[in-house]
Amino acid sequence: MELPPEVEKIIKRLNSSGFEAYAVGGCVRDSLLGRIPDDWDITTPAQPKQVKELFHRTIDTGIQHGTVTVMAGSGQYEVTTYRIDGEYPDGRHPAQVSFTSELLEDLKRRDFTINAMAYSHETGIVDAFDGMKDLRAGRIRCVGNPLERFEEDALRILRAIRFSAQLGFIIEEKTYEAISQIAPRIALVSKERIQAELTKILCSQHPEKIREVFATGIHKYISPAFAGLPWKEVRISSDLSSEKYIRWAAFLGQSGPETAVEVLKALKMDNDTIRKVQTLAAWTGRHLNVQESEVRRGMSAMPPEVWDALIQLNGYGCEIQALTNQIRSRGDCLDLKHLAVSGQDLAAAGIPAGKEMGRLLNLLLDLVLEDPNKNHKDILLEIAKNLAI
Ligand code: ATP
Ligand code: MG
Repeated sequence: MELPPEVEKIIKRLNSSGFEAYAVGGCVRDSLLGRIPDDWDITTPAQPKQVKELFHRTIDTGIQHGTVTVMAGSGQYEVTTYRIDGEYPDGRHPAQVSFTSELLEDLKRRDFTINAMAYSHETGIVDAFDGMKDLRAGRIRCVGNPLERFEEDALRILRAIRFSAQLGFIIEEKTYEAISQIAPRIALVSKERIQAELTKILCSQHPEKIREVFATGIHKYISPAFAGLPWKEVRISSDLSSEKYIRWAAFLGQSGPETAVEVLKALKMDNDTIRKVQTLAAWTGRHLNVQESEVRRGMSAMPPEVWDALIQLNGYGCEIQALTNQIRSRGDCLDLKHLAVSGQDLAAAGIPAGKEMGRLLNLLLDLVLEDPNKNHKDILLEIAKNLAI
């Protein structure tokens, strides 16, 4: 297995001070699968204080949990002391952690067999729980007793589904049964963490695995709006761009804008994503005639990238795409900012400012969306004067 040079250096420096050190967890799993790891984690019996003494540039990321970030080259690497997690009184976090000198103890606390392997050039792969076998079989399986592991930390039930979506793996039977059984405890997990896992599922290669969140009963304990989603009708194509708002819109669009907003607010989603999904949900399934004016009206209702997303989501064909391109390359007016008259122009022509003026401007925009040739100051002023009488 190959290690990035910085990881090799960190491991070597720990070794030369008498400490074992291994790459561990997701990075080992991903390397074995031929995927590029997002980040490299290192595990060692050295305590945080000792790690900090060995490296010049470090950040105290989670000293109390044994984690120090080491800056090397242009990268950041988390170096974590071998650790045993204590009791989990809240179904999510261990009350205390203790350090250990045994790698095996550290691997035992990890969630799935495929995530519980360590590697160093010196030792090779340390695989105490048959992670390789599960990796080859394409299987997510808990380390140890699944019910106990999910009772400790209920987030793991969503992580199981998330990894199965990202890797295209099945969930081993006993692990799957335990997920269904522990489902109510997802209520103990913060909405932000739930949202992050659901987003990873939807943005993965297998977004359809979101169905497992419902099939296992987890959905009932996320929020009332989520519980009521018509999941059996949901079809998400993995051909869609993998941007967060597009995948969420594909998932929630059919339920309409109100429900979509309710679901996302309960999950503490960011406002930008909520707004985009709301717009897309309002337009989901809407039929569009192949007509310039209709396309301009749609385009004027949302930012350009959201319109492009809607073309994908509603499966608008190449004719709508071609019209979109023409409208863009001509630079047709699509909003009040590009209308040939402004509020000031209307005021100068003797039309009183106020609510009426706003309505008048929108009416003019609507005429211009219908026919861009009308977007000239003299034409629009003339129309405005007649309308204002
Ligand atoms: P990715 O980074 O792609 O999300 P990962 O496996 O690296 O996947 P991380 O959340 O970065 O996941 O965690 C790193 C490692 O820490 C995991 O591989 C696993 O060994 C362990 N781990 C993380 N979260 C948990 C958890 N909730 N319970 C038990 N072990 C965990
Ligand atoms: Mg990781």
